[in-house]
Amino acid sequence: MAMNKDLAAWLRDAHAMEMQALKMMEAQVRRLEHYPELRSRLQRHIVDTQGQADRLGQCLHRLGESTSTLKDTAARLTAMAQGLSGFFVGDEVVKGGMASYTFEHFEISAYRTLIAAADELGEPEIRRVCEANLREEEEMANWLADHLPQVTQHYLRREAAGVEAKH
Ligand code: MG
Ligand code: FE
Repeated sequence: MAMNKDLAAWLRDAHAMEMQALKMMEAQVRRLEHYPELRSRLQRHIVDTQGQADRLGQCLHRLGESTSTLKDTAARLTAMAQGLSGFFVGDEVVKGGMASYTFEHFEISAYRTLIAAADELGEPEIRRVCEANLREEEEMANWLADHLPQVTQHYLRREAAGVEAKH
């Protein structure tokens, strides 16, 4: 039985979203020098995200989705996410933190939607995968909510001390 076309499309979009998340976080981690806690949390979430993308990829391959379809979707989503990262990331840690917080909530909205769709369409395996991914996004969003104030204050103190603050 073929999967519902909307659910299949939303799964492809989620996979593309995770590939974009990886690119954004890898770029941030490469730049960060003076924010070791943020850096190591991002590194942990990069590992989470690789697992998320793998789980979604396995779902898609079981559905017989081709890699070229994945690439098309990735290109479309990249344009959107580049808008986000272009707006937020710039060259400094505070904007990067804001972009990450925003992106985690985008991911949360995607998985909440997918879970509701999986329930409606009777796809328990897809629900299970999306719940696992959702939990990791919520943990990351909560961590960022707790730590963005410190990052901001650390940035301002470094600026006030006249030492390199942006990364
Ligand atoms: Mg993710
Ligand atoms: Fe995430």
